[in-house]
Amino acid sequence: MAILLESYGYRKKFERAYPWVDSLTSLGVGIGHQITGIANQIFIVGVMGGFVWEHRALTLPEGNGWIYLALFFSLEFAYYWYHRAAHEIHLMWATHSSHHTPNELTLSAAMRLGWTPFLSLSWLFFLPLIWLGFHPIAVFGLLSLSLIYQFWLHTKLVPRLGFTKGYSIRRLPTVSIMQVMISTSIKTMVVS
Ligand SMILES: [Zn+2]
Repeated sequence: MAILLESYGYRKKFERAYPWVDSLTSLGVGIGHQITGIANQIFIVGVMGGFVWEHRALTLPEGNGWIYLALFFSLEFAYYWYHRAAHEIHLMWATHSSHHTPNELTLSAAMRLGWTPFLSLSWLFFLPLIWLGFHPIAVFGLLSLSLIYQFWLHTKLVPRLGFTKGYSIRRLPTVSIMQVMISTSIKTMVVS
């Protein structure tokens, strides 16, 4: 439904045909990501996350709001370095590059995700949070919520904030929130 609305807004704003081939290709890649994701999640969250949880350095109190706030900012930090590494380390880029292959930025591009995150070792960036005492379900659950939120950033219909055009700052999910809220113009195609 969101993609249909985007296609309508796209035609009105840019006065050209919506890139349906690109968009449907992304959806197909996304379906493959979901299917392979079952094995990925078992290995990453269940096996590796469970192992680190068993050998964690700290046990944080449950049900404390400050703990969740700390997890939020810790995850931002980990995500920044994960995404930076995904662009700079060949092994990780081999999985992440598929996300950056659409010709145009549309909502479905958010679902164009690689099928082999366990091979790319991207999960290594999040294991330290578990070692510090954040439960694996909380870490990877919040990461999933972040990715769902990022779906809405993958469109050219939402204006961007000028000062966040810098290469590194765009990789922070919350900076993207600011982009959506404050921004006034589209000048570049931003990828998250
Ligand atoms: Zn990227």
